[in-house]
Amino acid sequence: AGYKGQDSLQFFSNELRDKRKRRWAIQQALGQAIRDNQLSIHYQPQFELQTGKMVGAEALLRWHQPDIGQVSPAEFIPIAEQSGLIIDVGRWVLKTAVHQAAFWYHHGFPTQIAINISPRQFEHPDFISELERLLTEAELPASFIELEITEGVLMKDAQGCLAALHELKRIGVSLAIDDFGQGYSSLSYLHRFPIDKLKIDRSFINDVHQSEMDQVLARIIIELGRQLELQIIAEGVELEQQAQWLTDNGCHLAQGYLMGKPMNSGDLHGLLLNQKPQ
Ligand code: C2E
Ligand code: CA
Ligand code: CA
Ligand code: CA
Repeated sequence: AGYKGQDSLQFFSNELRDKRKRRWAIQQALGQAIRDNQLSIHYQPQFELQTGKMVGAEALLRWHQPDIGQVSPAEFIPIAEQSGLIIDVGRWVLKTAVHQAAFWYHHGFPTQIAINISPRQFEHPDFISELERLLTEAELPASFIELEITEGVLMKDAQGCLAALHELKRIGVSLAIDDFGQGYSSLSYLHRFPIDKLKIDRSFINDVHQSEMDQVLARIIIELGRQLELQIIAEGVELEQQAQWLTDNGCHLAQGYLMGKPMNSGDLHGLLLNQKPQ
């Protein structure tokens, strides 16, 4: 048993060392990613469930590193957040997505683009003024940008956050809570935040067509949205049955592989062309 134990300890520390090595490599490489033009944004369309009409798209960051290959944002965003690189990365995303939204707006395809904002980026003192400057520069009405923030941001510094959210509403951007239900939001003050939309976390959607418990929880979130007059969007919709259940239960919007995967801006442009009534 002693031998086995040592063996697995050895294995564990190797694994840990490999993980640390990869983290370090990713952090080092990410520092060059913007300068070397390795980042891009994919857009995943969002639809109104009742009508099937496309209402907007979420901007999702992509990174192709020549040596490491494609790195998932689920892996590199947390590293960027911890190392502080998220400030530059987030700025790049904001600028690129605002310019893309402005391009579509000025070419006759007004489309709301949702942009993920990480906690450190949101708390940065220059964040709001930079966003305002970008919107002015691009001549894009603010309502065509939606910011997705997570519950954690609301809870960390409720007072500071509330002031920032009011400032953002004054500018006119739309505000969504991402991954709703997953974190630790205090329902007692959700109504105080000037939020437009809740995104039901994918974990509630996975089995919503077959799990009674998930149905109970999804119904509660939809009802909460109704009471607080918030739009509700389901994310990670992969199956027709999930979409049907959500439609039948009053969920407004949906996003997922069933309706459309994240795609490059050219492909989303094609989708916008097809949507446009002649
Ligand atoms: P998220 O904001 O919750 O984004 C949704 C994720 O679910 C995306 O993963 C998307 O590709 C994926 N997805 C969409 N539809 C489906 C579906 O039907 N089934 C399944 N299984 N997955 C689906 P992605 O693009 O890998 O992004 C992962 C996370 O990385 C995002 O989760 C977000 O937290 C973060 N992220 C991505 N881009 C940015 C960014 O520009 N800034 C920041 N701060 N975070 C970002
Ligand atoms: Ca998101
Ligand atoms: Ca909105
Ligand atoms: Ca999400």
